[in-house]
Amino acid sequence: MPKQSNPVRNFFAWLGLLITVGVLGLLLWLIALGALAGLVYLGLSLCTDWNFVAKLATSILASFIILKVLGLVSDVFDLLPEWWFDPRKKPTPCPHCGKNLRTALAQQCRHCGADWHSEP
Ligand SMILES: [Zn+2]
Repeated sequence: MPKQSNPVRNFFAWLGLLITVGVLGLLLWLIALGALAGLVYLGLSLCTDWNFVAKLATSILASFIILKVLGLVSDVFDLLPEWWFDPRKKPTPCPHCGKNLRTALAQQCRHCGADWHSEP
């Protein structure tokens, strides 16, 4: 009997993969938050005479805000074309619509959506 693809089974396989990736991403983020909070806590211990709870709360809150701001800044910079920052890099036009690509090495156009990743 030939093996048929079961849509319900495929759905749960994808759901499992999605949850695993989400949990791993959250774990990595928590590790980064913990490392940053540790550094802030160390700095507060050296510079202030606050009690344990105040230092702990401040370091966790500060590292949470720092990670959020860093994420926001990197998202914003990812949207800006690289030739805005480096005038030596000339804008490369999209071979499909002619509008400027974000980077010279881009293989996908953010204006028309053309994608030439698989082309040689
Ligand atoms: Zn295009």
